[in-house]
Amino acid sequence: AEQLLMQSEKLAVVGQLAAGIVHEIRNPLTVLKGFLRFSENGNFKSEYISIMDKEIERIETIIQEFLILAKPQAMNLRWYDVGKLLMDALTPLQPFILQNNVTVELRIASPLPLVQCEEMQLRQAFMNILKNAIEAMPLGGHLTIEANVWDGRSVHVQIADDGCGIPEQQVKNLGTPFYTTKQNGTGLGLTVSQKIIELHHGTLQIKSIEGTGTIVELVIPIEHGERSVYASMGGLYATKFS
Ligand code: ADP
Ligand code: MG
Repeated sequence: AEQLLMQSEKLAVVGQLAAGIVHEIRNPLTVLKGFLRFSENGNFKSEYISIMDKEIERIETIIQEFLILAKPQAMNLRWYDVGKLLMDALTPLQPFILQNNVTVELRIASPLPLVQCEEMQLRQAFMNILKNAIEAMPLGGHLTIEANVWDGRSVHVQIADDGCGIPEQQVKNLGTPFYTTKQNGTGLGLTVSQKIIELHHGTLQIKSIEGTGTIVELVIPIEHGERSVYASMGGLYATKFS
């Protein structure tokens, strides 16, 4: 009976998530349809293509993030340099960093021990957090990326910005699927990052002062350990000790 109850609880979470996704995808679809109407009337301009392309990209992002949340993740663990993963996450954000007049300070200990992780997932989590930091500084600012070893067992990553910060009463909303204060936000970035860090048995903590800035602190164990993780819906997961 317990098992059945859990199954239906999981379905409820998927249902909520799916309802949110449907809602999120409807907006770009409406925009795309609108542009197609233009082409029916013979009023289509080539400038529309880049707008349509952005909307399609948005749908792709939403679906990709949904998959990380909803699909049980097979963890394909390998040993990686977290400093390199941070750089890999930062590189595609360079144009955005320039555009926002953001200066970047790297304090990555060298050498850093390799961490047992799922490379693609961890890079995605870093990218979501870095993107938020840059988005918090539309009028320029300073981004600090720090990584060092903690007690020889975990790597400690700190991503700090001196951007807009988060009002105290909004902190409790962080990590809730679809919570966003941005016009074009999906509100899935932190939820996905949290899930990925949980899958690595790590922790994600956010400290913020409105008007001053935000620090995101990650602790990632170097060894994933004996445990295997069965990820389930909405960031809930069960661990099995073998
Ligand atoms: P999105 O970026 O699409 O809005 P996220 O899940 O990445 O979704 O972030 C949720 C919300 O958390 C953001 O809309 C923003 O209000 C807040 N937030 C996250 N990171 C920061 C940050 N570094 N500075 C200020 N606010 C942040
Ligand atoms: Mg984000």
